[in-house]
Amino acid sequence: MKKKPLSFDKDLFKRSVLYNVKTLYRKTMEEATPQEIYQAAAYAIKDAIVDHWMTTQKAAAEQDPKIVYYMSMEFLMGRAFGNNLINLQAYKPVKEALDELGLDVNLVEDQEPDPALGNGGLGRLAACFLDSLATLGYMAYGCGIRYKYGMFRQQIKDGYQVEVPDTWLENGNPFELRRSELAKEVKFGGYVNMFTDEYGRTIFRQEGYQVVRAVPYDLPVIGYGNGVVDTLRIWDAEPIQCFQLDSFDKGDYQKAVEQENLASQLCEVLYPNDNHIAGKELRLKQQYFFISASVQTAVQRYLRNHDDIRKLYEKTVFQLNDTHPTVAVAELMRILMDDYYLSWDDAWDVTTKTCCYTNHTIMSEALEKWPVDLFQRLLPRIYQIVDEINRRFVDQIMRTYSGSAGIDVQAKIRSMAILYDNQVKMAHLAIVGGHSVNGVAKLHTEILKQRELKDFYEMMPEKFNNKTNGITQRRFLMHANPLLADWVTEKIGDDWITDLSQMDKLKDFVNDKKAQAEFMDIKLKNKQRLAEYILEHNGVKVDPKSIFDVQVKRLHEYKRQLLNILTVMYKYHDIKSHPNKDFYPKTYIFGAKAAAGYLTAKLTIKLINSVAEVINNDPDIKGKIKVVFIEDYRVSNAELIFAAADVSEQISTASKEASGTGNMKMMLNGAVTIGTMDGANVEIVNEVGEENAFIFGLSSQEVMEYEKNGNYNPMDIYNSDPNVKKALDMLVDGTFSKDKELFRPLYNCLLNKVGGNRADQYFILKDFESYLEAQKKISDAYADKKRWAKMALMNTACCGKFSSDRTIQEYVDEVWHLDKLNVEAK
Ligand SMILES: *Cc1c(COP(=O)(O)O)cnc(C)c1O
Repeated sequence: MKKKPLSFDKDLFKRSVLYNVKTLYRKTMEEATPQEIYQAAAYAIKDAIVDHWMTTQKAAAEQDPKIVYYMSMEFLMGRAFGNNLINLQAYKPVKEALDELGLDVNLVEDQEPDPALGNGGLGRLAACFLDSLATLGYMAYGCGIRYKYGMFRQQIKDGYQVEVPDTWLENGNPFELRRSELAKEVKFGGYVNMFTDEYGRTIFRQEGYQVVRAVPYDLPVIGYGNGVVDTLRIWDAEPIQCFQLDSFDKGDYQKAVEQENLASQLCEVLYPNDNHIAGKELRLKQQYFFISASVQTAVQRYLRNHDDIRKLYEKTVFQLNDTHPTVAVAELMRILMDDYYLSWDDAWDVTTKTCCYTNHTIMSEALEKWPVDLFQRLLPRIYQIVDEINRRFVDQIMRTYSGSAGIDVQAKIRSMAILYDNQVKMAHLAIVGGHSVNGVAKLHTEILKQRELKDFYEMMPEKFNNKTNGITQRRFLMHANPLLADWVTEKIGDDWITDLSQMDKLKDFVNDKKAQAEFMDIKLKNKQRLAEYILEHNGVKVDPKSIFDVQVKRLHEYKRQLLNILTVMYKYHDIKSHPNKDFYPKTYIFGAKAAAGYLTAKLTIKLINSVAEVINNDPDIKGKIKVVFIEDYRVSNAELIFAAADVSEQISTASKEASGTGNMKMMLNGAVTIGTMDGANVEIVNEVGEENAFIFGLSSQEVMEYEKNGNYNPMDIYNSDPNVKKALDMLVDGTFSKDKELFRPLYNCLLNKVGGNRADQYFILKDFESYLEAQKKISDAYADKKRWAKMALMNTACCGKFSSDRTIQEYVDEVWHLDKLNVEAK
């Protein structure tokens, strides 16, 4: 049976906008600024949301479903306004209402700052998961940090990245609710006092600590068309009652100031590192801060209507998004033992049944470790508990393996202990302290089981499982690409909105000439839309009829933007030396932020911009190649870019990209992948068929063999392959920079050992020729209009598996075991 759409009162909305403009700003519509109109409209939408939000909370109170707490340092939500309208099924009436008020919905949407409380894929995954949880009708809380400054805004000045603070809260956030009644205290430092109480129990009490007040802000997460509204709860830090006059001696004064400083610093800024650990003390404080507050509220919520804390896990599950939230294991142990007097064994039973861990990377620089002395100083009680978890676990390793023939027990301890070499290994704590460990794509999970976490897998195979990532089609098709969304609905109905496997039905149209033409016409319109954006932001005119070849993602050596731009440099040379050679016009589109301290990444951005400058202004090229670097890549412009992509560049060194999700967003929008057999690319090719993707390069097996044997020598390739040599020499011959030495560090990384790194550690030279070949095949395929239309359409038709709805349903069925909420949608 077809569900009735949610009701939305358009006239009420209109009146509400006018009223809000008046009461918030003492203005008429004519006088209000676009920002003020956005705020007024957002508050009007919030009114509608709050009703559903209350209904959801009431239903949860009555039905007592199990709740998942998705714990994550990052939630890369993107703009809320348009997405909320879509999920409320109110986009069209609101668009009409704004039209009638003389306003353009796109311009109103453009007033909203992008909440960028995340770096890249990991944070965006968390956002997609919340959308799917609400849409599938599960009770969920996202738990995170309300950074005052999210991911920095990127400006490009003279080709270089400049980081500008992201002041997303400057005008307030109309969708949030401050919940000061739920504030919690979080304690840092001091020492642990141990004594026996009147009942003979051993009591551990933290004393001499600093304390901050954690105040939650709730943001609504709206399910699609089902009246369910979940919550993203992000915590801000405030000083606890500033100065208590009665204890105003010298020591307390000092401490009051320190506490105030700590509170004001805690949630200031998101660390802008992706797949790399900064190892800063403040980062550990941030982790414990939001985890302690979140775990306290979860326990408190459970006890609102249950009395046996030993059964917490029946109604509560914590999913730890990477190791960043892993102190949750020890924090839950602390609360269960110190506040509720559970024995170690009982507390351990509850904790391991409540916690689950998602691994996101095998890259060694991303493995989170903390120096023991720092950890112990900052979190003295938590450290005691981790120490005891470790002691018992090492015992267990010894019991399991001593006496087993051919097994080196000390080696097992070395590879698995939580405390080793004066470090706290967070991944080991997460694995031992929970009942589920998952990778984020099949290949990644296999690599975890066979290599990185082999010893853990052998000891506790039942914990390991795969959950291939996904993305939400509500944002990345409905909102990002309304033309294509409407076309799909016209062809197969609208069930795909909540069941992406329906896209399969588009396969009936892949050979249909009319459908092909319509599909490619929509792509062209989206390319025109992006071309306008590029003209406005870059001042570069690009041809919407050229191939839009897109690589947008964080800048990282393993993602190999350098490989991409080196082949662009090579082709520039090739066209210049063969002016009459056929070359299908191509627009290379890049977008990427580099971590502020990552020099190689920043120099790669400069290189891309320098290459763009030279090529775009060289009349010899006759516009056959254009290169564009889109400034400040973020969710809002990503939506425009994905919709316009012909070619999706997914060219990481095999084995390094755990999953990737940008690859899925582009597939959904009908882009064809050029990529390595890495991460979820493997599964994408499996769905769409090898003939509808362009795969090249070393396999993960081959990469790992070279790494093990250390027998890769890029200099041999440089000396024997003239194409490679030409591309590399152009880095240092002045073609793209007056200062010939500017790009020397990139050249050196490719040919020599630098620092502790092997020469060309990401195998760029090794994969260069096969990448060029794949690119040639793409140009040939694109020149054949019908062939390309079919391939592109096949990609959209085969993307069903990559909905985050599917991922979440797998977590629910295999790990979380949640109950569906029954909400009367109105
Ligand atoms: C999807 C997405 C990412 C992740 O992209 P990958 O190509 O998987 O690294 C990063 N940033 C934004 C804004 C995204 O939307």
